[in-house]
Amino acid sequence: MTQKRVLITGAAGFLGSHLCDRFIKENYHVIGMDNLITGDLHNIEHLFKLSNFEFYHHDVSKFVHVPGNLDYILHFASPASPIDYLKIPIQTLKVGSLGIHNLLGLAKQKSARLLIASTSEVYGDPQVHPQTENYWGNVNPVGPRGVYDEAKRFQEAMTMAYHTYHGLETRIVRIFNTYGPRMRLNDGRVLPAFIGQALRGEDLTAFGDGSQTRSFCYVDDLVEGIYRLLLSDCVDPVNIGNPDEITIKDFAEEIIKLTGTNQKIIFKPLPTDDPKQRQPDITKAKALLGWEAKVSRAEGLKITYDYFKGLSKEKLYEDPLGRNFK
Ligand code: UDP
Repeated sequence: MTQKRVLITGAAGFLGSHLCDRFIKENYHVIGMDNLITGDLHNIEHLFKLSNFEFYHHDVSKFVHVPGNLDYILHFASPASPIDYLKIPIQTLKVGSLGIHNLLGLAKQKSARLLIASTSEVYGDPQVHPQTENYWGNVNPVGPRGVYDEAKRFQEAMTMAYHTYHGLETRIVRIFNTYGPRMRLNDGRVLPAFIGQALRGEDLTAFGDGSQTRSFCYVDDLVEGIYRLLLSDCVDPVNIGNPDEITIKDFAEEIIKLTGTNQKIIFKPLPTDDPKQRQPDITKAKALLGWEAKVSRAEGLKITYDYFKGLSKEKLYEDPLGRNFK
């Protein structure tokens, strides 16, 4: 049997690198692509010695050329934290719009199946709770998150149009908050923010009064859901996330307990358009993919904390996008 070939964009990022690992494990030929703006080659350096792994340093907002056939394309290239969108808003919009157009063209040319990473952000600050796939959302297009939310919404629309108009095989995963090893320590997302603060001996910064909720999924669970979705015949969007919901204040307390830090929680202003609550309804994923999250927050957080503890002291203060944490 010939080896299947998959292109993974955003391969050096948090989710992209875990996907590369999974497809290597499933004996695929994996072609990783990344422009390395937010990605880090350390996340995939263990794969470079393998004959079934290739890496292209390329920005998918520009024409994408990949020699040979492709069976699958997974589009995971995008900045993915609120601080990144503020810092690089135009790139965020381009990768979700020009980038997906290039990849859809490539998928059409290669007759490949394309799966896109969409997000719970398409629901905005949701007025329906938990969020089902048929809720259309409450998004502010011109707020700080608009560049990400609207790029992802456009990406879904474009992908669906290629499916209906060109008959392209497409899949759409709506990813809820996910965590695990290889997250960027200082990208502003709440889990690395809290763990980084605990490791640096700083107070933990909860935004607002900390009553807003999120539901955190461990990365291995997410990857399993994506793998099943790719191989399913499910064209409509599917939520993948762990419905175990928690307030940010309680989450900070869990991190304090886990890390044993003697710092306290301090409260900072709530960022504009910060969603008040978020929890995936995963009825569809359960029914169509037989999928649900298996890793508890206690287990997942321990693995993630061990990873961050193992990083060098310099990494604790390093900021790939030039912000100063000292
Ligand atoms: N948050 C916080 N302190 C921080 C970073 C984030 O309280 O230092 C909050 C943030 O306001 C949001 C939640 O944690 O309500 C999750 O933020 P994150 O950026 O991780 O993801 P998103 O808002 O996109 O779900």
